[in-house]
Amino acid sequence: MIYDLHSHTTASDGVLTPTALVNHAAERGINYLAITDHDTIKGVAEAESAIQNSNLPLKLVTGVEISTLWNSYEIHIVGLQIDLENFDLNKLLLQHEDNRLNRAYAISEKLARVSVADAYQGAKQYAQGDIVSRAHFARFLVEQGYVKDIKRAFKKYLAKSGYAYVAPKWCTIAEAINVIHAAGGQAVLAHPSRYDMTATKLNLLLTEFKELGGDAMEVSQSRQTMDDLRNLAKLATKYQLLASQGSDFHGLNSYLDLGKTTPLPDSVQPIWHNWTL
Ligand code: AMP
Ligand code: MN
Ligand code: MN
Ligand code: MN
Repeated sequence: MIYDLHSHTTASDGVLTPTALVNHAAERGINYLAITDHDTIKGVAEAESAIQNSNLPLKLVTGVEISTLWNSYEIHIVGLQIDLENFDLNKLLLQHEDNRLNRAYAISEKLARVSVADAYQGAKQYAQGDIVSRAHFARFLVEQGYVKDIKRAFKKYLAKSGYAYVAPKWCTIAEAINVIHAAGGQAVLAHPSRYDMTATKLNLLLTEFKELGGDAMEVSQSRQTMDDLRNLAKLATKYQLLASQGSDFHGLNSYLDLGKTTPLPDSVQPIWHNWTL
């Protein structure tokens, strides 16, 4: 069975529509796919219909990737197996959508000061859903020739040290975990080794995440060394967290694809061990 429990669609900053994503997942032989868009669940219904209409041999796992703030780090918490109708969840996601919009206006104003005009409208053209992401600004900056590639767009303008960085107003990790639990889901710490933290900090993060009731952490990711996989598996055991795996797929490219992750080692308990799907 192939599980990919982290992926994005045009509902946030992915480039495939939910319909295109599930078709691609079926072609790739994925059996269980979670759509985990940034701060929105609006792509899931279309994906579910596409699976039913085309009779795709694929089970969808409901999901979301919630942006949180922890000691000035932007930490992503994935929620899996969530009830999409849950009131508290939808309320939190609406707040984040609103915060994203206000942040986008502020980013645009900062960009205007360094002679990048009409960035909000520009970014909006790439945002096909209601979520505006820095990834959309990055595409605009590249297309308009302000920078050579996405990486440079973040480095020069959008990352913490960039000209147009605006501190986001995300919720806390506790709020994200609580809302995921209220919606009957499991809370997963996303891509633990991508936060650019020392080992000490990461241990502190995992200690708090576990104390707050966090259920799992991503252990197997795309573009990962075996050392990293082994280290994350050890941490999952140390903090008694279930293990998840996902590609964090945003769009088609040669080195990252749906399902392209190393299988979880036997030492960890997969998050799906007691799922009935
Ligand atoms: P946001 O959630 O709006 O703050 O945007 C963050 C998104 O931008 C992430 O989910 C990534 O998809 C993308 N991103 C962040 N940093 C980089 C980077 N250095 N290079 C490329 N993409 C990035
Ligand atoms: Mn993204
Ligand atoms: Mn993320
Ligand atoms: Mn992601």
